[in-house]
Amino acid sequence: MHSIPEGLPADEVIARLDALRTDDVRWREGRAFSLAYSAGPEVERVAAEAHRRFATENALNTDAFPSLRTIQSEVVAIVAGWLAAGPDGAGFMTSGGTESLLLAVKGSRERGRRERGITQPNIVLPTSAHAAFEKGCHYFGLESRRVAVGPDWRADVDAMADAIDENTVLVVGSAPQYPQGVIDPIPDIAALAAERDINCHVDACMGGITLTFLRRLGHEIPPWNFEVPGVTSISVDLHKYGYSTKGASVLMHRTKTLRSYQTYVTDNWLGGLYGSSGILGTKGGGPMAAAWAVMHLLGDEGYLELTARARGACDRLAALLEDIDDLELRARPEVTLIAFGAADPDRFDVYALADALWRRGWYLDRQGPPASLHCTVNAVHADHLDEFEVDLRAAVAEVRGSGSTGSTGAYGSID
Ligand SMILES: *Cc1c(COP(=O)(O)O)cnc(C)c1O
Repeated sequence: MHSIPEGLPADEVIARLDALRTDDVRWREGRAFSLAYSAGPEVERVAAEAHRRFATENALNTDAFPSLRTIQSEVVAIVAGWLAAGPDGAGFMTSGGTESLLLAVKGSRERGRRERGITQPNIVLPTSAHAAFEKGCHYFGLESRRVAVGPDWRADVDAMADAIDENTVLVVGSAPQYPQGVIDPIPDIAALAAERDINCHVDACMGGITLTFLRRLGHEIPPWNFEVPGVTSISVDLHKYGYSTKGASVLMHRTKTLRSYQTYVTDNWLGGLYGSSGILGTKGGGPMAAAWAVMHLLGDEGYLELTARARGACDRLAALLEDIDDLELRARPEVTLIAFGAADPDRFDVYALADALWRRGWYLDRQGPPASLHCTVNAVHADHLDEFEVDLRAAVAEVRGSGSTGSTGAYGSID
C-alpha cells in the first residue's frame, strides 16, 4: 500500500519526481537512439510552455475551447501542405502514431462495411509494418495478412497482390518502415488499392516530416505522399521528428468522405449527442498546443536545418558502423533510421552489445528477427557522435570474444 495521508509541500513533490528520474536515459545529451527526440533547449522550452498552458484544456468539445479547434485545424493544414494533400484533404490530430494507425484500420473496416457490405474484413501488409496495425486488427476484428518482405526488406508487392481477396479493405506501405528504415514501393502498393478501390495507408509516422524536408534539401526521394494516386491516408507523428511533446500525431485522408469513416457519433445513452474524432474522449490540449507552438517556432527553415542535422548524423553513424568489422548494416539508411546486426551472429551477440552500451548510458532498441539493434537518429545526435564512437568501440571490444549474451529486450513494455 502506498498512502499519502497528508499532502507534501510542492517543492518536495517536484524533488521526489526528479529523484525518480535518476536512472532515466539522458536523451537531451543524445543518449537515446529511440523513444525521445530533441531539437535543443529553446524548442523544448517553448513546447513545454505551450503544453503547460493547455494541459487542462479539453478538445473533446471545441465549442467550449475554440482555441483548440483553431489549433487543430492549423496544425492539420500545415501537415496537409507537407503531404501534398489536395483541396479536399482532411485530417485530425491524434494522440500518437498508434492512434493514427488504429483509426486507419477502423476507417477501412467501416468503409468496406458501408460501401461493399464486407463483414469479414482483412488487411494486407508487409511483415515490416508497425505492430500498431496488428493491435488495430485485434481491437476492431479484422484479419491481419502479413506478407514477407523481399531481400532488401521492402514490401514484396507481387506477394501482397496474391494475398488480397474480395474481403481486403486496406493495404499498407511505410515511408520508411521502422525495423530496417527502408521506404516501401508506395506507388506499386497504392496501385493495388486503386485497382480495387480500397484503402491504402502510408505509415509515415516516422518519416513524414523528414522526407518532406529532405526532398526540399535536394535529396532524391521516391514518391510516397498524396502525389501518388491510390494513397487514401497518411499518418505523421509530431512527437517524433516534429520535435514536440508526446501525444501528437496527424492522420490525414485524401477526402472528407474517407475521413468520415474514422469518426464516431452516438446518442444511445442519456447524456446527449456524443461525437469524437478518434479513440479518446477527453483529449488534452497540451500536446496539440505544443505541436502548434513548435511548428510555428521552427517554420520551414527550422525543419530544414533540423532535418539536415539529423540526416548528417545518420550518415556519420552509418559510416562508423560500417567501419567496425564485427557489425553489419541491415540496409543503407534511406531516411534517419539505422538497423545493424553482427557480421557473425554465432560469435557476436548484439544484445550483449546493447547491454554494454546501456552500462555506458546509451539506449538502443533491440529487435528481431533477425537479432538487430536499431538507432533512430535525430538532430540531437549531431553533437554527440564522438562520445558515442568512443563508447561503441569500447563496448564492441568488450563483447568481442567474451561469448557473453544479452537479453532481447522489447520495443514496448507492459509493466
Ligand atoms: C512510432 C511509429 C509508430 C507508432 O507510433 P506511436 O507514436 O509510438 O504510437 C507507427 N509506425 C511507425 C513507422 C513508427 O515509427
